[in-house]
Amino acid sequence: MVMTVNEIRTKYLEFFKARGHAIIPSASLVPQNDPTTLFTGSGMQPMIRYLLGEKHPQGTRIADSQKSFRETDIEEVGDNRHTTFFEMLGNWSLGDYFKKEQIEWIFEFLVTEVGVDPKNLYVTVFAGDPAIGVLQDNESIEIWKKLFAGVGVEAEFVSIGSEADGYRLGMRGGRIFSYDSSKNWWSRAGVPEKMPQGEPGGPDSEMFYDFGTQHDLKYGPQCHPNCDCGRFLEIGNNVFMEYIKREDGFEMLAQRNVDFGGGLERIAAAAQGDPDVFRTDVFWDIITLLEHFSDKRYDDSRYKRSFRIVADHMRAAVFMLGDGVRPSNTERGYVLRRLLRRASLHAQKLGISAEKADDSMLVRSAIIILEKYDGAYPELAADEVYETVKSEVWKEEVLFGHALVKGMKEFEKAAAGGHISGEQAYVLFTTYGFPFEMTLEIARERNIDVDEDGFKLEMKKHQELSRAGSEQKFKGGLADHSEKTTRLHTAHHLLLKALQIVLGPQVKQRGSNITSERLRIDFSYGAKMTKEQIAAVEKMVNEKIAEALPVTRSTLPRDEAEALGAEHEFGAKYPDMVSVYSIGPRGGNEVKPQYEHAFSIEFCGGPHVGNTSELGIFKIQKEEAVAAGIRRIKAVLT
Ligand SMILES: [Zn+2]
Ligand SMILES: [Zn+2]
Repeated sequence: MVMTVNEIRTKYLEFFKARGHAIIPSASLVPQNDPTTLFTGSGMQPMIRYLLGEKHPQGTRIADSQKSFRETDIEEVGDNRHTTFFEMLGNWSLGDYFKKEQIEWIFEFLVTEVGVDPKNLYVTVFAGDPAIGVLQDNESIEIWKKLFAGVGVEAEFVSIGSEADGYRLGMRGGRIFSYDSSKNWWSRAGVPEKMPQGEPGGPDSEMFYDFGTQHDLKYGPQCHPNCDCGRFLEIGNNVFMEYIKREDGFEMLAQRNVDFGGGLERIAAAAQGDPDVFRTDVFWDIITLLEHFSDKRYDDSRYKRSFRIVADHMRAAVFMLGDGVRPSNTERGYVLRRLLRRASLHAQKLGISAEKADDSMLVRSAIIILEKYDGAYPELAADEVYETVKSEVWKEEVLFGHALVKGMKEFEKAAAGGHISGEQAYVLFTTYGFPFEMTLEIARERNIDVDEDGFKLEMKKHQELSRAGSEQKFKGGLADHSEKTTRLHTAHHLLLKALQIVLGPQVKQRGSNITSERLRIDFSYGAKMTKEQIAAVEKMVNEKIAEALPVTRSTLPRDEAEALGAEHEFGAKYPDMVSVYSIGPRGGNEVKPQYEHAFSIEFCGGPHVGNTSELGIFKIQKEEAVAAGIRRIKAVLT
């Protein structure tokens, strides 16, 4: 009997609880104090400070199952493994147990508890890197060998090296493989060379399930665990976080940590020996329902993608609604709207339209999800959530369902010319509710091009008009990238302050520009910055990110804000009440901001992230002159 996703999650948490772990609840998909973003599913980020040595209030052994959402995967959904929403199983040792316990436990959990066939399990370890003085992870190799021997599975160790070596050399009868740092080293910044000073990292050991499918030669002559052909699916990663990067190389951390992350749905797919995650119970019930009402079969290759998109998007949408997101034309509300409309479009492709929908298939799908998950996630269990999900899904489906039919006619008209102009895409968005990305996608399926710049121009024109007068109805309709822009905006504040500390308080901002790709700041300073100054500024910003400082908004009388030393543009006219963003200290919040201990305070309308820990790694790409006495920095977050 194959275990359900719910059973596997429960088993995992019980298993680690029995081994002394405190079970912590999943964080909301909506980060606190942050009006724009969604939780994107790195289990590591909130834990960094504890890995560095701070005491965790729950002790040294922690486990959880974290809800996660990846907006960037929306258009990837449709193959057998991509989903926008997923659950990440995690367990941590904060200076407590290490490799032996972790590998033994996770092997026991997968093989004995979940029933994953060890004959199909393959693992990788770190090959070592002489440049940083870290050796091949022989300790993990020995532990894995013993475990495989214990279940009667032959486990030869085979050295691979780089990914390219993998495609060249192949498996050679191995079960335990070593790869270089591009595959078996974990840090937020990636490989050791990319890590800034003060950043923790370490070797890792990944686990793959072999579905035994045919290798696809288009990837390379030979198959290997990290091959992208789909034969192997990574189901979990054990990170041994024991190093920290210093000025002159790597040092051991004061404590050796373990950070395990495993994909719950992927483990379920491995347990049933089928690479299609949509055949796990969570999706299958929805697919069966849709099959029944559409008279189409999931196995019909013409419809498979649409079945998967509806099932995935409805699950993600229900979890977002459960965490308080509502469909709108801005920011995360727009992401939710896009999911629901895309689900509606694909339900229509299956022949289930809103017209015969007094019994809406999307609402029924949503209810299946609520019933599956309300035991594990109490936020989905409340009666009012049930009502909200039903009515919001219904509204979007009906509102959009009617527009969809007319909109598709409009689309066909436009497409007949072989090209969709910016203005046509704009009308599809504003009049028929087609999210721009959806227009792009439908056009792509038919090899029709869309004037993207023209569309942006139309949006801008409209925004300026609406700013001038009427309501800002569609403002932020393009807010798809706003999560990145928002992060860069917060980094911008950290950067300005760091420049003032490193170069002197005379540094003033003279201009700025932020896109989803990078930030740019112009500031007053009379000389080219030295390499050391650039490194010092970069380091300071990354330290503030690692300190996980809260970002707090307050509204204050102008003179009070000025008296606090809040950064503002000299000579600019401000209203009597101003919006101020302060970063840090820890413990500060909206109710009780501690301005006197803040790292940075600026007059600013936002938006910003809720906590600097959401930023990633800060990197200065360029420092140059723009005018006499004015320098310019371009920087990114990775
Ligand atoms: Zn392959
Ligand atoms: Zn600002």
